[in-house]
Amino acid sequence: MRFHIITIFPEMFDSYLKESILGRAIKNKLISIKFYNPRDFIKAPKNNYKPVDDKPYGGGPGMVMRAEPILKVVQSIYKKLKVKKLVKLKAIIFSPSGKKFTTEYAKQAAKRYADIVLISGRYEGIDARVQKILKAEEISIGDYVLTGGELPAMVAIDSISRQIPGVLGKYESLEEERVSSSEIYTRPEILKWKGKKYKVPKVLLSGNHKKIEEWKKSKKKS
Ligand code: SAH
Repeated sequence: MRFHIITIFPEMFDSYLKESILGRAIKNKLISIKFYNPRDFIKAPKNNYKPVDDKPYGGGPGMVMRAEPILKVVQSIYKKLKVKKLVKLKAIIFSPSGKKFTTEYAKQAAKRYADIVLISGRYEGIDARVQKILKAEEISIGDYVLTGGELPAMVAIDSISRQIPGVLGKYESLEEERVSSSEIYTRPEILKWKGKKYKVPKVLLSGNHKKIEEWKKSKKKS
């Protein structure tokens, strides 16, 4: 799976994607992540000022990300991938009013696509013509408004990647392959904290796998 991230803040991704499971997946070439900055796709006027945003038509506060630099980025990705038509590229635009991102969406995406373009907005969002021209899907990661689409892009990459075979190692596994529980414990068996004792539920120490599974199922919230 190749993720192509369009963002004016590529550095924001560095530490998160480098570590742990995703870092390992990149090393093992199970996923790759490339960054494209719309700022690099603007011919700089003499004064070197590169605007990626402009005022909204119809008035209102804040700025809007201009369509052209983003379309040029996508076009360059499309050229590199040798996709025949621009509209054939799977593109996602992050928007708080988009379709809700779910585990099911992540599963389908991991199965269906080899390349995903993730467009992160900033300011008040992106000129609506980008979505229209690319026929991009608008995706929201939840009912709250963030300052930008960078966290949503990381959320999507994280969630889609763990659905790709081999990304989760032997110490991790997908929910459907195990009976998981939202209530979990590790050592010590009795935790002493501020004069009180907190014990691990007896059933988990019983060695009775049937009973343990039943208990786990009863604790499962979803
Ligand atoms: N004024 C806009 C909000 C812009 S938020 C509105 O009311 O719709 C700025 C950018 O952050 C958006 O373009 C989007 O890319 C991203 N963003 C913010 N919240 C998000 C969410 N819940 N899901 C996905 N993207 C989000």
